[in-house]
Amino acid sequence: MLVAETKAGIKVYADKCKGKVEAICPSCKAPVRLKHGKIKIPHFAHVAYTGCAYFSEGETLEHLMNKQMLLTWSGSGQLEAYLPELQQRPDLLINRVAVEIQCSPLSLTRLIERTKNYQNHHYQPWWLVGQKLTPRKRWSHLQKAFSYYDFKKGCHLWVIANQQKEIQLFYHIRWHFQLGYFFQKKRWRFMESPLAQVFLFEPDRSDYHWEVSAYRYTIQKKLFQGNEKIQEIQEQIYRLKGNIQTLPEWCYSASEFFFYFEDLLLFLRYCVTVSANFHQWLDRIKSIDFSWYFPLVSQKEILRAVYDESCFLQESSNF
Ligand SMILES: [Zn+2]
Repeated sequence: MLVAETKAGIKVYADKCKGKVEAICPSCKAPVRLKHGKIKIPHFAHVAYTGCAYFSEGETLEHLMNKQMLLTWSGSGQLEAYLPELQQRPDLLINRVAVEIQCSPLSLTRLIERTKNYQNHHYQPWWLVGQKLTPRKRWSHLQKAFSYYDFKKGCHLWVIANQQKEIQLFYHIRWHFQLGYFFQKKRWRFMESPLAQVFLFEPDRSDYHWEVSAYRYTIQKKLFQGNEKIQEIQEQIYRLKGNIQTLPEWCYSASEFFFYFEDLLLFLRYCVTVSANFHQWLDRIKSIDFSWYFPLVSQKEILRAVYDESCFLQESSNF
């Protein structure tokens, strides 16, 4: 932790301490010791193991440095502030924005819990992932779960790069049937723009196309190769008297929503062709497993957008 307190409840900042200080953990009230190592930046650690719920001793150097960097960058943020009504302690609190820096893997359940807790209390969680969780070629469920969605940035993910001392935004993240995931990257060097401006950054929307026939060909090939996922989707489409190999052409066109569903988007689109309205469509698509693994993104909003986009593509193809 970077902030401890005195027995009288006065805050003590690790980077401002000189020599010996008597301080306690703001959470469990057990004594803490100032550590001023050669490798780690000044921070406090419990003198003895207490099973403290908020501050484990496993805080990495990366996490401590990122917190310190964002604190300086924000100017007015509150470090490790305790929110009693939530019983949560964001790394940094800037007005109603709760900044959470995630440097080590955590369970999806925990991510969902923490996120919901903020949202239920009208805090906006701003998750930034550290080095270990920064996606490279492949994206795990967990990495995708940290992503956000909005109209301008599309699917996006915030990254904090400790070595470069910068915040990075991976935006317009797209899934391609051959290339997998790719994205645009924007970076802000330390203090380059105010943090609020970084948070509110809006790029232009960008269109995205691929060759429809190439995608259909890939699906056919996977089907012949006995790909299980494609076979399952085919079964679902069969039930509704369709065939994954011969869907209307527009069903194979590119979309940012492949990020959430990959090939399963074909099924969602096919269902549009056999539904009279949004509610009927929702009813039809319920036959598949609809667990939602994106706590920072509204499932309702994405489904609505998928439906609207499909209707638009279908209508445009009739001209
Ligand atoms: Zn403690």
